[in-house]
Amino acid sequence: MRRSIYAANWKMHKIRSETRDFFKDFIRSVGNRDDVDIVIAPPFTSLEEAVNACRDTTIEIAAQNMHFEPKGAFTGEISASMILDLGCTAVILGHSERRHVFGEGDDFINKKIVAALEVSLQPIFCVGEKIEQRESGQTEEVLDTQIRAGLRGISQERMKNLVIAYEPVWAIGTGLTASPQQAQEAHVYIRKLLEELYGSQVAGTIRILYGGSVKPSNIADLMAEEDLDGVLVGGASLDPESFAGIVNHD
Ligand code: PEP
Repeated sequence: MRRSIYAANWKMHKIRSETRDFFKDFIRSVGNRDDVDIVIAPPFTSLEEAVNACRDTTIEIAAQNMHFEPKGAFTGEISASMILDLGCTAVILGHSERRHVFGEGDDFINKKIVAALEVSLQPIFCVGEKIEQRESGQTEEVLDTQIRAGLRGISQERMKNLVIAYEPVWAIGTGLTASPQQAQEAHVYIRKLLEELYGSQVAGTIRILYGGSVKPSNIADLMAEEDLDGVLVGGASLDPESFAGIVNHD
């Protein structure tokens, strides 16, 4: 039985006072859930505020990116151990905005995944196809390439601390959601690939999240699919009532 994860990606939103306000309302609405994992990724500048706000709760805080080097002359970058030092437990890696706006490639993302796992920071590893790739029947090929390259050199043991997020690029921030069937098909494909790479026992325990215009009105149908182990939510995670509605869905 895989435990569900409700993850939030705030992207470049919310200064510290807004972060404090969010958690006051969100914690009041969700209470202290111990049956699911809730992971929220504020921007770097609000991470400490978020960790402090969630200190007496089960909510975990994640960063949205990191560099793979542990330290050095990398102006503007943040390392895995710096994120860990703030009290974060996870980091989003390979998000489509990092891939397509900032030009991050599979090998670069792989180095980050390896570095995060090295210090036991949980990577939420994002993969997904663009609309033209889906329309030309390349979805599985794209997932195959991104996953094989992203997981290169990662042992079975380390895989236990990794989460995959299937985020079709055409569904992110567009209001277009993959249908539950489309999401389930992609998740089944990913799990089969993980089985090939790590064996069925490990593949059966890895959690695969869906991301792309998830909201309170579509969460129940998505989560009813067998291979959806949770969601990664952007826009609808910014409002505490909306994200609480997703976490508390029927
Ligand atoms: C995301 O940024 O990971 C995401 C899924 O965004 P949205 O929910 O806004 O589509």
